[in-house]
Amino acid sequence: PVRVRFAPSPTGRMHLGSGRTALYNYLLARKTGGTFVLRIEDTDRKRLVPGAEEELIEGMKWLGINFDEGPGIGGPYGPYRQSERKAIYQEYADKLVEAGHAYPCFCTPDRLERMRQEQQKRKEPPHYDRTCRNLSPEEAKRRVEAGEPHVIRFKSPMEGTTTVRDVLRGEITVENRTIDDYILVKTDGFALYHLAATVDDHLMDISHVIRGSEWLPSLPLHVLIHRAFGWVEPEYCHLSVFLKPSGKGKMSKRESADLLKDGYSIYVMDLKELGYLPEAVVNWIALMGWSYDDHTEFFSLKDLVEKFSLEHLNPSPAAINFTKFDHFAGLHVRNLQVEDLAQRMKPFFEKAGYAADLDTLVKIAPIVQERLVTLDEAPDLAGFFFKTEILPAAEELVPAGMTREQALDVARQSLAVLAAAPELTPEAAEAPMRELVEKLGLKAGQVFGLLRVAVTGQKVSPPLFESMMIMGRERVLKQVEQAVR
Ligand code: GLU
Repeated sequence: PVRVRFAPSPTGRMHLGSGRTALYNYLLARKTGGTFVLRIEDTDRKRLVPGAEEELIEGMKWLGINFDEGPGIGGPYGPYRQSERKAIYQEYADKLVEAGHAYPCFCTPDRLERMRQEQQKRKEPPHYDRTCRNLSPEEAKRRVEAGEPHVIRFKSPMEGTTTVRDVLRGEITVENRTIDDYILVKTDGFALYHLAATVDDHLMDISHVIRGSEWLPSLPLHVLIHRAFGWVEPEYCHLSVFLKPSGKGKMSKRESADLLKDGYSIYVMDLKELGYLPEAVVNWIALMGWSYDDHTEFFSLKDLVEKFSLEHLNPSPAAINFTKFDHFAGLHVRNLQVEDLAQRMKPFFEKAGYAADLDTLVKIAPIVQERLVTLDEAPDLAGFFFKTEILPAAEELVPAGMTREQALDVARQSLAVLAAAPELTPEAAEAPMRELVEKLGLKAGQVFGLLRVAVTGQKVSPPLFESMMIMGRERVLKQVEQAVR
């Protein structure tokens, strides 16, 4: 059975790449009826960032990527935080030492630093010179028992080659002598990532490791560790790297320093703040390194579960295109049910200071739906519905090419037409207003523009007659009267 894991380190904010890794793991699990595990890799205590784990879980929840086992919900392979598994790693490190696949190393930081400098002088890549590998097991044991500070290193084979397999790249063969004797356990007894992740992938019965390609260079080491234990390693799939973001759109406005400072990290929860729908984010990141065919672009999470397969992942660098993102964002807004859209807009109206009730939002939703890319645009467009007072400045009521007197006259005549209409529905009000436009010999844009400012206080609004219907006859007439005064 498929068991996959998303194994983030809580060392910072959740960026788009993490979202994508989580998504692909989730999709494979759901597609195959497998299990999706969340494992928190928090062994590096110095790099921990408070709140990072919470943000990761919140981000996954927001994207709709729910896990089956992990912190908080537990499961048969727990605990799921590596900091709670320290004893397990110690036990497995000891096993490796006993079996002769790892050894304690007593080299002091000073000695290692001098070694590093000399290697640099000789233009060698930094590596451990294997001094302690040659200690007799008896001596090593004695020094460990005497309490001498030490790390545990992996005993990489010195000759031969190791062949590993990546689902997207096929077989990769490396010379074993290029694999360093990496540290598995630090002086403080904490296992490092390589040992912890490998042991956990085995103990948690992980079938597929899907992760960022920054881990591809570590793959031979991970495979060697599995094999040193006599285990069969899982399948590995390293995802494509990202290209520098491109394209225009809402996000590119933030591209400046803010976005570029952290290796152009884009944070998942910032996208929520900006008013993007999680559906749009999922659609966008799904296509950063995966495709179904050469033309289908719109995918819901459900579609993705149905259509996902590892074979369609692409290892070449993935584009982060903001124009495309906004395109998806608009599509997904339009794909929402009206009630759903109303619900989702609500917090954005509230954040903008409007006491927006759901009933009114349900009426507004269909007339803004076509125009929104992100939800935070809704209050800009339709906040006026919730204003108790709309008082456009006198000069805004004068359309281009008209004098103030002419504008007043247009407002007066419009008021008469609207007051005479049996009701202010688009059906009942638009035709007589168009007749007026003709009678006055003006352009529809001029008259409706004036009316729009008078009624909504804005130059840009949702469709005018629909807006008037939602505002109600009384309020509309009051607004136009105010413009006449
Ligand atoms: N903890 C690693 C990270 O945050 C995960 C690597 C892996 O999936 O093996 O990138």
